[in-house]
Amino acid sequence: MDYFPLFLKLKDQPCLVVGAGEIASRKIELLLKTGARISVVAPEIGNSIAELASESRVTLLQRNFAASDLNGMCLAVSATNTRSVNEAVAQAANARNIPVNVVDNPDLCSFIFPAIVDRSPLTVAVSSGGVSPVLARLLRSKVEAAIPGAFGLLAQFAEEFRSLVKQRLPEAARRRVFWEDALQGNIAELVFSGRRDQAAAELRTKLDAAEQALPRGEVYLIGAGPGDPDLLTFRALRLMQQADVVVYDRLVSKEILEMARRDAEKIYVGKQRSNHSLPQESINELLADLALSGKRVARLKGGDPFIFGRGGEEIETLLQQGIQFQVVPGITAAAGCASYAGIPLTHRDHAQSCTFVTGHLKDGNINLNWSQLAAPNQTIVIYMGLVGLETICQSLIEHGCPPDQPIALIQQGTTRHQRVITGTLSDMPQKVENADIKPPTLIIVGTVVRLREQLEWFQPA
Ligand code: SAH
Repeated sequence: MDYFPLFLKLKDQPCLVVGAGEIASRKIELLLKTGARISVVAPEIGNSIAELASESRVTLLQRNFAASDLNGMCLAVSATNTRSVNEAVAQAANARNIPVNVVDNPDLCSFIFPAIVDRSPLTVAVSSGGVSPVLARLLRSKVEAAIPGAFGLLAQFAEEFRSLVKQRLPEAARRRVFWEDALQGNIAELVFSGRRDQAAAELRTKLDAAEQALPRGEVYLIGAGPGDPDLLTFRALRLMQQADVVVYDRLVSKEILEMARRDAEKIYVGKQRSNHSLPQESINELLADLALSGKRVARLKGGDPFIFGRGGEEIETLLQQGIQFQVVPGITAAAGCASYAGIPLTHRDHAQSCTFVTGHLKDGNINLNWSQLAAPNQTIVIYMGLVGLETICQSLIEHGCPPDQPIALIQQGTTRHQRVITGTLSDMPQKVENADIKPPTLIIVGTVVRLREQLEWFQPA
C-alpha cells in the first residue's frame, strides 16, 4: 500500500488552496463539503472561485503564494499551471509537515484525493495510488451503481439507534449480529422507501427479541473453489464477511482469505500431505467448540466441501452436538481446472460420462475399480494423484486403456500459477517428473484432453 487511506475531519479547519482556476474551484467545492475554512491564494481569481467566495468560509488573497501562507494550515492543495509554484508549495508544506496535494502531479503529493462515492455519512473512497485515476473512477462508478442513493439515510438511522442498541446489547459480538441483520433486511427497505417511523418500530421489536435470545453460534461450511477468488459464490462471500472466526486450510488461497471479514480471527488447520498438522477429529471439535461459544464460524474448504473434502465428517460432529450449520457449495477442482484448461469433461464425440476418483496412495496402492475406469468413452478426473501418477498410468494400460490415451495434469488450476502438461498414459510419468511440479495438481484422462488444442483460452503470464 503506497498511500494509507484515512478520513480526515476538516470542519472549521483552515486549508490553503493555491491557484484559482477551474481545477482549484473543484477542489474547493469538495473541501467545502467537509465544513473546512479555505484560503485561496492566486494573482488572478477565476469567475467560479469568485462565486464560491461569497461563502463565508472562503477567503480570497489576490497575490502570489508565499511560504508563510501555510502557517497554521492543516492541509494544502496546489492547483496552478506553474511548475515552480507547485514545487514551492509542496516544499514549504513538507517543511511544515502539512499534507499537500499538487493536482495531477503525484511526485509532489504527500496525499492524494480519492474518487468518492458520497452517501454521507457513509463515504466510499477509491484510489489507484495515483497510478491510474481513470481506473479508480471506473471502480467508483461501479460502487456508485451498487449502493442505493438512500444509503446515507440508513447510516443516519443506524446512528440514531446506536447508543440504545449498545446499552441493550452490551456484548459486541451480539450487537454486530443484530446490526448485520437489521441493516440488510426489511428495516433497511423501510428506510430506503421513506417509512422511517415504521422502520424504527420494527427495530425496537427486533431489539426486544435480540435481548431475550441466547447467543447462538453457527458453522458455515463453505466451498471456496479452486483458487481464483472470482469463483466464489455470492453466498460464500456474504457468510465470510459476517463470520467471527475463519477456519481454513492449505487449499484456500491468500486472496480468498483476504475477502473474509478483516477483524475475524483466522485459524489455520492446514494439512501437508505427509504432515498432518491438525487431525480431522481436532478440526471437528474445534468447529464445535467455537460455535458453542456463540461464534459464527466460516469453515473454508478448497473446491467443494462435499467432494473429497471430508465435509460430511465435520458436519456429523456438529449434528451430534445440536449445532446449527449450513453448507455452501463451491466450484470443485475438476470443474475449475477443466474450464481453465480448455478441457470439457464431457463431449458428445468423446465422453458420455465423467468419474471423479481419488488417486491417494494407501500402502503404495490405489484401490480403484480399474477395469471400469479403463472403459472407453468416458473422462476420469483424479484428485490427489500426483504421487501415484505412475501407478495410475500403468494400471489403466494394464486394464485395457490404449497407451496413447491422452492425459493432462493441471497444476494450481484457475490461479495465476496454472500450468498444464499434456501427454499420453505411456509418456506422462516421465514428462511430469521432469517438470518441477507444485501442488495442488489434478489429472484428467480421456480423449477430451485433445480438445484443449482448440479450446485453450486461459494463459496466465
Ligand atoms: N474439495 C476439493 C478437493 C480436496 S482434495 C475440491 O472440491 O476441489 C485436494 C485435491 O484437490 C488436490 O490434491 C488436487 O488434486 C485437487 N485440487 C484442489 N484445488 C486444485 C487446483 N487449484 N488445481 C489443481 N488441483 C486442485
